[in-house]
Amino acid sequence: MNQRVTQIQERIRQAAVLCGRNPDSIQLVAVTKTVPPATIRQAMDAGLRIFGESYLQEAAAKINAIADTRLSWHFIGHLQSNKAKFAVRCFDLIHSVDSTSLAEALNRQAGRIHKIQNVLVQVNISGESTKSGTSIKEAAALVYAIHEMENLSVKGLMTIPPFFDQPEKARPYFKALADLKEGIQKQSLPGNEMTELSMGMTGDFEVAIEEGATLVRIGTAIFGERALSCYCISVADPVPFIP
Ligand SMILES: *Cc1c(COP(=O)(O)O)cnc(C)c1O
Repeated sequence: MNQRVTQIQERIRQAAVLCGRNPDSIQLVAVTKTVPPATIRQAMDAGLRIFGESYLQEAAAKINAIADTRLSWHFIGHLQSNKAKFAVRCFDLIHSVDSTSLAEALNRQAGRIHKIQNVLVQVNISGESTKSGTSIKEAAALVYAIHEMENLSVKGLMTIPPFFDQPEKARPYFKALADLKEGIQKQSLPGNEMTELSMGMTGDFEVAIEEGATLVRIGTAIFGERALSCYCISVADPVPFIP
Protein backbone atom coordinates (compact mmCIF):
# COMPACT_ATOMS: atom_id res chain seq x y z
CA MET A 1 0.00 0.00 0.00
CA ASN A 2 2.69 2.50 0.99
CA GLN A 3 4.50 1.86 -2.24
CA ARG A 4 1.40 2.31 -4.42
CA VAL A 5 0.49 5.52 -2.64
CA THR A 6 4.01 6.89 -2.96
CA GLN A 7 4.07 5.97 -6.65
CA ILE A 8 0.81 7.78 -7.35
CA GLN A 9 1.88 10.83 -5.37
CA GLU A 10 5.12 10.87 -7.34
CA ARG A 11 3.27 10.58 -10.68
CA ILE A 12 1.01 13.48 -9.67
CA ARG A 13 4.05 15.54 -8.71
CA GLN A 14 5.84 14.73 -11.95
CA ALA A 15 2.83 15.54 -14.10
CA ALA A 16 2.46 18.88 -12.32
CA VAL A 17 6.13 19.81 -12.60
CA LEU A 18 6.25 18.83 -16.28
CA CYS A 19 3.53 21.34 -17.12
CA GLY A 20 4.81 24.03 -14.80
CA ARG A 21 2.19 23.66 -12.07
CA ASN A 22 2.72 23.61 -8.33
CA PRO A 23 2.19 19.98 -7.21
CA ASP A 24 0.53 21.29 -4.04
CA SER A 25 -2.30 22.67 -6.15
CA ILE A 26 -3.48 19.11 -6.84
CA GLN A 27 -5.26 17.02 -4.25
CA LEU A 28 -5.51 13.26 -4.42
CA VAL A 29 -8.98 11.88 -3.70
CA ALA A 30 -8.52 8.17 -3.01
CA VAL A 31 -11.64 6.45 -4.34
CA THR A 32 -12.70 3.80 -1.85
CA LYS A 33 -15.97 2.44 -3.24
CA THR A 34 -15.99 -1.34 -2.55
CA VAL A 35 -12.85 -0.97 -0.39
CA PRO A 36 -13.30 -2.24 3.20
CA PRO A 37 -12.42 -0.11 6.26
CA ALA A 38 -9.30 -2.12 7.10
CA THR A 39 -7.81 -1.26 3.71
CA ILE A 40 -8.86 2.37 4.06
CA ARG A 41 -6.97 2.45 7.38
CA GLN A 42 -3.86 1.17 5.58
CA ALA A 43 -4.25 4.00 3.09
CA MET A 44 -4.49 6.42 6.03
CA ASP A 45 -1.30 4.97 7.45
CA ALA A 46 0.30 5.62 4.07
CA GLY A 47 -0.65 9.28 4.53
CA LEU A 48 -3.91 9.65 2.58
CA ARG A 49 -6.59 11.87 4.09
CA ILE A 50 -9.20 12.47 1.37
CA PHE A 51 -11.47 9.59 0.41
CA GLY A 52 -14.13 9.53 -2.29
CA GLU A 53 -17.24 7.35 -2.15
CA SER A 54 -19.96 6.71 -4.73
CA TYR A 55 -22.74 4.99 -2.77
CA LEU A 56 -24.32 6.73 0.16
CA GLN A 57 -25.20 3.77 2.35
CA GLU A 58 -21.86 2.10 1.83
CA ALA A 59 -20.12 5.37 2.58
CA ALA A 60 -22.12 6.10 5.73
CA ALA A 61 -21.36 2.65 7.10
CA LYS A 62 -17.64 3.01 6.48
CA ILE A 63 -17.42 6.59 7.72
CA ASN A 64 -19.03 5.44 10.97
CA ALA A 65 -16.79 2.38 11.20
CA ILE A 66 -13.60 4.39 10.69
CA ALA A 67 -14.74 7.48 12.64
CA ASP A 68 -11.57 9.51 12.28
CA THR A 69 -11.90 13.29 12.28
CA ARG A 70 -8.60 13.76 10.42
CA LEU A 71 -10.26 12.43 7.28
CA SER A 72 -12.13 14.32 4.64
CA TRP A 73 -14.84 12.36 2.83
CA HIS A 74 -16.01 13.38 -0.61
CA PHE A 75 -19.08 12.14 -2.45
CA ILE A 76 -18.47 11.43 -6.14
CA GLY A 77 -21.47 9.29 -7.14
CA HIS A 78 -24.94 10.08 -8.36
CA LEU A 79 -27.01 11.62 -5.60
CA GLN A 80 -30.78 11.61 -5.29
CA SER A 81 -32.50 14.58 -3.69
CA ASN A 82 -34.17 12.38 -1.08
CA LYS A 83 -30.70 11.40 0.23
CA ALA A 84 -29.57 14.99 0.71
CA LYS A 85 -30.12 14.81 4.45
CA PHE A 86 -27.50 12.06 4.82
CA ALA A 87 -25.13 13.51 2.29
CA VAL A 88 -24.73 16.83 4.13
CA ARG A 89 -23.96 14.96 7.34
CA CYS A 90 -21.26 12.80 5.77
CA PHE A 91 -19.28 14.80 3.22
CA ASP A 92 -16.97 17.80 3.11
CA LEU A 93 -17.34 18.08 -0.63
CA ILE A 94 -20.06 16.75 -2.94
CA HIS A 95 -18.66 16.53 -6.51
CA SER A 96 -21.87 15.54 -8.24
CA VAL A 97 -24.51 18.27 -8.04
CA ASP A 98 -26.28 18.20 -11.39
CA SER A 99 -29.69 19.79 -10.92
CA THR A 100 -31.35 22.74 -9.22
CA SER A 101 -33.68 20.42 -7.34
CA LEU A 102 -30.75 18.48 -5.84
CA ALA A 103 -29.00 21.73 -4.97
CA GLU A 104 -32.16 23.00 -3.27
CA ALA A 105 -32.48 19.82 -1.25
CA LEU A 106 -28.84 20.04 -0.15
CA ASN A 107 -29.24 23.72 0.70
CA ARG A 108 -32.28 22.98 2.85
CA GLN A 109 -30.63 20.10 4.69
CA ALA A 110 -27.33 21.94 5.19
CA GLY A 111 -29.32 24.82 6.71
CA ARG A 112 -30.92 22.46 9.19
CA ILE A 113 -27.55 21.46 10.58
CA HIS A 114 -26.05 24.97 10.24
CA LYS A 115 -23.47 23.87 7.73
CA ILE A 116 -22.13 25.52 4.62
CA GLN A 117 -21.92 22.56 2.25
CA ASN A 118 -19.16 22.71 -0.35
CA VAL A 119 -20.22 21.37 -3.74
CA LEU A 120 -19.05 20.99 -7.32
CA VAL A 121 -21.29 21.02 -10.36
CA GLN A 122 -20.96 17.84 -12.38
CA VAL A 123 -20.98 18.47 -16.12
CA ASN A 124 -21.73 15.83 -18.73
CA ILE A 125 -19.21 17.08 -21.27
CA SER A 126 -19.60 14.16 -23.67
CA GLY A 127 -23.40 14.30 -23.64
CA GLU A 128 -23.57 10.49 -23.24
CA SER A 129 -27.05 9.55 -22.06
CA THR A 130 -25.62 7.06 -19.54
CA LYS A 131 -23.69 9.77 -17.69
CA SER A 132 -25.04 12.07 -15.02
CA GLY A 133 -24.25 15.73 -15.02
CA THR A 134 -25.75 18.92 -16.28
CA SER A 135 -25.24 19.84 -19.93
CA ILE A 136 -22.51 22.30 -20.88
CA LYS A 137 -25.25 24.74 -21.84
CA GLU A 138 -26.95 24.62 -18.46
CA ALA A 139 -23.86 24.50 -16.26
CA ALA A 140 -23.40 28.24 -15.79
CA ALA A 141 -27.04 28.75 -14.84
CA LEU A 142 -26.77 25.98 -12.24
CA VAL A 143 -23.59 27.51 -10.79
CA TYR A 144 -25.33 30.88 -10.49
CA ALA A 145 -28.41 29.31 -8.92
CA ILE A 146 -26.24 27.54 -6.32
CA HIS A 147 -24.32 30.74 -5.73
CA GLU A 148 -27.57 32.31 -4.53
CA MET A 149 -28.18 29.51 -2.02
CA GLU A 150 -27.31 30.48 1.50
CA ASN A 151 -26.01 27.16 2.76
CA LEU A 152 -24.10 25.97 -0.30
CA SER A 153 -20.72 27.08 -1.58
CA VAL A 154 -19.92 26.11 -5.16
CA LYS A 155 -16.20 25.47 -5.51
CA GLY A 156 -15.86 24.36 -9.11
CA LEU A 157 -16.74 21.74 -11.71
CA MET A 158 -16.41 17.99 -12.08
CA THR A 159 -16.60 15.66 -15.06
CA ILE A 160 -16.22 12.01 -16.05
CA PRO A 161 -15.14 11.67 -19.69
CA PRO A 162 -15.98 8.59 -21.75
CA PHE A 163 -13.65 5.66 -21.17
CA PHE A 164 -10.71 5.42 -23.58
CA ASP A 165 -7.74 3.05 -23.74
CA GLN A 166 -5.58 6.00 -24.62
CA PRO A 167 -5.63 8.79 -22.04
CA GLU A 168 -4.79 11.37 -24.68
CA LYS A 169 -8.30 10.92 -26.09
CA ALA A 170 -9.81 12.23 -22.86
CA ARG A 171 -7.93 15.52 -23.21
CA PRO A 172 -10.62 17.44 -25.16
CA TYR A 173 -13.15 16.68 -22.41
CA PHE A 174 -10.81 17.94 -19.68
CA LYS A 175 -10.00 21.01 -21.71
CA ALA A 176 -13.70 21.68 -22.29
CA LEU A 177 -14.35 21.55 -18.53
CA ALA A 178 -11.43 23.92 -17.84
CA ASP A 179 -12.70 26.34 -20.51
CA LEU A 180 -16.20 26.17 -19.09
CA LYS A 181 -14.92 27.01 -15.61
CA GLU A 182 -12.93 29.92 -16.98
CA GLY A 183 -15.99 31.25 -18.81
CA ILE A 184 -18.07 31.11 -15.65
CA GLN A 185 -15.31 32.77 -13.62
CA LYS A 186 -15.08 35.60 -16.15
CA GLN A 187 -18.69 36.50 -15.55
CA SER A 188 -17.45 36.98 -11.98
CA LEU A 189 -19.17 35.49 -9.02
CA PRO A 190 -18.63 37.88 -6.12
CA GLY A 191 -17.19 36.18 -3.10
CA ASN A 192 -16.92 32.90 -4.92
CA GLU A 193 -13.69 31.42 -6.05
CA MET A 194 -14.74 28.49 -8.27
CA THR A 195 -11.19 27.21 -8.14
CA GLU A 196 -11.65 23.44 -8.32
CA LEU A 197 -11.62 21.13 -11.32
CA SER A 198 -12.35 17.53 -10.34
CA MET A 199 -11.18 15.42 -13.26
CA GLY A 200 -8.85 12.52 -13.94
CA MET A 201 -8.94 8.89 -12.77
CA THR A 202 -6.47 6.00 -12.79
CA GLY A 203 -6.22 5.83 -16.59
CA ASP A 204 -5.98 9.51 -17.42
CA PHE A 205 -5.06 11.66 -14.41
CA GLU A 206 -1.79 12.90 -15.86
CA VAL A 207 -3.58 14.37 -18.87
CA ALA A 208 -6.20 15.87 -16.53
CA ILE A 209 -3.42 17.54 -14.52
CA GLU A 210 -1.98 19.01 -17.71
CA GLU A 211 -5.42 20.49 -18.40
CA GLY A 212 -5.74 22.00 -14.93
CA ALA A 213 -7.21 19.35 -12.58
CA THR A 214 -7.07 20.33 -8.90
CA LEU A 215 -8.74 17.15 -7.63
CA VAL A 216 -7.86 13.78 -9.16
CA ARG A 217 -10.06 10.82 -8.20
CA ILE A 218 -8.01 7.63 -8.15
CA GLY A 219 -9.18 4.19 -7.09
CA THR A 220 -7.73 1.28 -9.06
CA ALA A 221 -4.13 2.50 -9.08
CA ILE A 222 -4.17 2.58 -5.28
CA PHE A 223 -6.47 -0.27 -4.27
CA GLY A 224 -6.31 -2.59 -7.29
CA GLU A 225 -9.19 -3.81 -9.41
CA ARG A 226 -12.57 -3.55 -7.70
CA ALA A 227 -14.65 -6.59 -6.90
CA LEU A 228 -17.94 -6.84 -8.74
CA SER A 229 -20.19 -6.30 -5.76
CA CYS A 230 -19.88 -3.53 -3.29
CA TYR A 231 -18.58 -3.78 0.21
CA CYS A 232 -21.43 -3.40 2.67
CA ILE A 233 -21.82 -3.41 6.43
CA SER A 234 -25.39 -3.70 7.65
CA VAL A 235 -26.73 -2.26 4.47
CA ALA A 236 -30.33 -3.23 3.92
CA ASP A 237 -30.27 -2.51 0.25
CA PRO A 238 -26.86 -3.28 -1.23
CA VAL A 239 -26.10 -1.58 -4.48
CA PRO A 240 -24.16 -3.66 -6.98
CA PHE A 241 -21.12 -1.96 -8.39
CA ILE A 242 -21.67 -1.07 -12.02
CA PRO A 243 -18.36 -0.36 -13.73
C1 LIG B 1 -14.77 4.80 -9.40
C2 LIG B 1 -14.60 6.22 -9.72
C3 LIG B 1 -13.32 6.79 -9.85
C4 LIG B 1 -12.03 6.00 -9.72
O1 LIG B 1 -11.79 5.30 -10.90
P1 LIG B 1 -10.42 4.47 -11.08
O2 LIG B 1 -10.37 4.23 -12.53
O3 LIG B 1 -10.56 3.24 -10.26
O4 LIG B 1 -9.30 5.32 -10.60
C5 LIG B 1 -13.24 8.15 -10.09
N1 LIG B 1 -14.35 8.92 -10.22
C6 LIG B 1 -15.59 8.41 -10.10
C7 LIG B 1 -16.76 9.30 -10.24
C8 LIG B 1 -15.76 7.05 -9.85
O5 LIG B 1 -16.99 6.55 -9.75
